[in-house]
Amino acid sequence: MGATKQSWIKRKANGNGIGWNKGQKGLCSTSTIEKMRKAKLGKPTWNKGKKLSEEHRKNLKGKRPNQTGENHHMFGKHHTLETKEKIRIAKSGDKCNLWKGGVSKISNLIRGCFQTRQWRSDVFTRDNYTCQKCGIKSGCGYTIYFEAHHIKSHSEILKENHIKTIEDAINCQELWNINNGITLCLKCHKETDTYAGRNRFINTNA
Ligand SMILES: [Zn+2]
Repeated sequence: MGATKQSWIKRKANGNGIGWNKGQKGLCSTSTIEKMRKAKLGKPTWNKGKKLSEEHRKNLKGKRPNQTGENHHMFGKHHTLETKEKIRIAKSGDKCNLWKGGVSKISNLIRGCFQTRQWRSDVFTRDNYTCQKCGIKSGCGYTIYFEAHHIKSHSEILKENHIKTIEDAINCQELWNINNGITLCLKCHKETDTYAGRNRFINTNA
């Protein structure tokens, strides 16, 4: 399990206010969750019917209790372009919580480049626009979404060949080997381990 409470505290100190357990599965076992659910079942919440103390009320005074819709402090307002730029800089690159060490950027560039489109099209042509797992084809009024699946994952190839720039990628033979590609329908592709929802292509002329 990657996230621990300690790492959360560290991240919080870095100004990254993301819950330590966000998106984490399996921190509690299913039976534990079921136990917790049963323990609370039918019981009122801890603050039901309780009133805030005088001191607590005083502390809350002037603070907006509900920061949604028109109560939000930014409701109807817009950040200036300057502020937007500041936010962009403050949250971009390695400061973003989704930062994976600079691999996504090059990976996305490669996925969008001409060579990838060519590779994908070559894979589809070789497989005759047919899903190589379930054998489905477009036609008879049905449109099938096809995707070219990397047998050896795209990110693995980038990592092994130390691809850092688009030039590195273009010179990498392994990346453009159509034997590493297979035509799958969207449904079958989703069942693969490395499915990322990319490489979408519609074949409407079959
Ligand atoms: Zn299929």
